[in-house]
Amino acid sequence: MSNIAGGSQVNSAGALSPESRAASIEALKATAEAGKELDILIVGGGVVGAGAALDAVTRGLTVGIVEARDWSSGTSSRSSKLIHGGLRYLEMLDFALVQEALQERGLLIQTIAPHLVRPVPFLYPLTRRFVERPYVGAGIMLYDTLGLTSGHSRGVPMHRHLTKRGTLRAAPSLKDDAFVGSIRYYDAQVDDARLVVNVVRTAAHYGAHAANRLRVVDFLREGERVVGAKLENQEDGEVFEVRAKQVVNATGVWTDETQAMVTDRGQLKVRASKGIHLVVPRDRFQSTVGLILRTEKSVLFVIPWGRHWIIGTTDTDWTLDKAHPAASSKDIDYVLEHVNRVLKRPLTREDVEGVYAGLRPLLAGDNDSTAKLSREHVVAHPVPGLVVVAGGKYTTYRVMAKDAVDEATRAMDERVPPSCTDTIPLLGAEGFKAAWNRRARSAEEAGVHVARVEHLLNRYGSMTAEVLDLIARQPELAEPLPGADDYLAAEVVYATTHEGARHVHDVLTRRTRISIEAWDRGVSAVPVVAKLMGEILGWSDTQRESEIKHYLARVEAERLSQEQPDDESADAARMGVDDIMPLR
Ligand SMILES: Cc1cc2nc3c(=O)[nH]c(=O)nc-3n(C[C@H](O)[C@H](O)[C@H](O)COP(=O)(O)OP(=O)(O)OC[C@H]3O[C@@H](n4cnc5c(N)ncnc54)[C@H](O)[C@@H]3O)c2cc1C
Repeated sequence: MSNIAGGSQVNSAGALSPESRAASIEALKATAEAGKELDILIVGGGVVGAGAALDAVTRGLTVGIVEARDWSSGTSSRSSKLIHGGLRYLEMLDFALVQEALQERGLLIQTIAPHLVRPVPFLYPLTRRFVERPYVGAGIMLYDTLGLTSGHSRGVPMHRHLTKRGTLRAAPSLKDDAFVGSIRYYDAQVDDARLVVNVVRTAAHYGAHAANRLRVVDFLREGERVVGAKLENQEDGEVFEVRAKQVVNATGVWTDETQAMVTDRGQLKVRASKGIHLVVPRDRFQSTVGLILRTEKSVLFVIPWGRHWIIGTTDTDWTLDKAHPAASSKDIDYVLEHVNRVLKRPLTREDVEGVYAGLRPLLAGDNDSTAKLSREHVVAHPVPGLVVVAGGKYTTYRVMAKDAVDEATRAMDERVPPSCTDTIPLLGAEGFKAAWNRRARSAEEAGVHVARVEHLLNRYGSMTAEVLDLIARQPELAEPLPGADDYLAAEVVYATTHEGARHVHDVLTRRTRISIEAWDRGVSAVPVVAKLMGEILGWSDTQRESEIKHYLARVEAERLSQEQPDDESADAARMGVDDIMPLR
């Protein structure tokens, strides 16, 4: 094994391999026997469900977590990818929410996931002389201070006021008349899909039974009480039962549907609000910092993302297909129009490499404007045996998870220890700094460029050693993927053997971000990805062809939907291709 972790052997336990999925399914089935029930079954493999699994298992409970599609395939791979308090919530005077989120930001950067969550600088351009600077300055000062007073260090540098010249130096592509000065402040960012898989892996490492592509189709009842769930394996169609003392429903925008399987009493109502993002190459404009821009309804972020920018977002009600929210031409124009207000050289459709859309799970309120609904979460216990957690935001997933598990354990007979996830680093966090410091030597030993090792370290932390190990054994895996030079063939193998990827779109969309970062959206990479995955998963030629065909159809449907004028026509175009169903 390569010595990237500074001497220690990296523990590969917690690998989400095809074998571990099969073993988890067997363990879940075994709970149907009398006396073998789980303490907690978590439904939903987004960030909240994953967090709840880790929270529960590290309290010493027996835990299962099931996800209907792929880990993080819902909202948790489609966010702005910011770990932030949310400056605009300050304006809504929601200090408690901001402080809680900033505390989580500090924990994630410093303890839980330093390999995945990192500080990112933003400029807040000021457009009016005199009044605006003191007003915004006071807000950002409070933001920085709330981060400090939360009992942890902020983990990011303090803000700074910039003159007009200073602003132009930081962001030379800003239009001269778009600002009179600015304030630079720091927040943090994460690859949202990657963090979720990492949390699930860490939960599995501590003993949780984790399996994706298992859909809850019903809940088991004894009288009023929920005592488990009926699951359908989406890979082979098998239906089986899992029993648990408590079931935690963490299904985000699907909460209404999953809750309705049990009760129509005391329901949490969750509303879906669509937000879209554009991905453009980093060289389309010059700036060393991200931007936060005010819009009529909310804010627009321009976020540095490796060799790209992510620009978004929008905020509109969505009542159509929740599995594949579609960005329409109108959404794309909205984002382009707003960002172009501040850029010297306007961006056009030709500059857009990728587009993605996600649905915010908002607690339904009376307020008509989704942008004004609070992002706070709610935990409910509508019937004995079932806890529902919904709302919130990515940044505060750990708190949501803790609150949900607290609620579930309150109903248990035995005393359960309190949450300890604030002290638990995710897999790959331990040894990350040492591995980063010796990256040049690791690169030399592995025979790859140091930039490659840096890229891997930022994705796998100290588990990078496991990826480099694959290359040491099979040097051809050091080849970059066609049309997606940032990613190596070894990462496809690792995604399949360690990160639970089961289909080509899991790898192209979530384990890597090729579907939004590559000009061809992964079209030239897909045959190689299918070949590498097929060898591990034992696909026949027909299965491999079907995976490729399905992915290409999906890319086409997404492109077509993005040319449609509105939500309805975009949804109809995207609906042309459903989730892949394996050959049975
Ligand atoms: C455009 C946009 C930008 C955002 N930006 C940010 C940001 O920058 N920072 C931030 O903090 N937050 C942000 N958020 C909010 C954040 O992304 C969400 O709050 C969070 O990801 C929700 O996670 P979740 O686990 O509740 O839901 P999800 O990630 O949707 O997970 C729910 C899971 O349940 C599964 N499921 C559904 N039904 C079943 C069933 N019957 N059986 C089994 N599984 C089932 C689904 O497949 C899904 O994977 C943003 C949201 C959007 C839409």
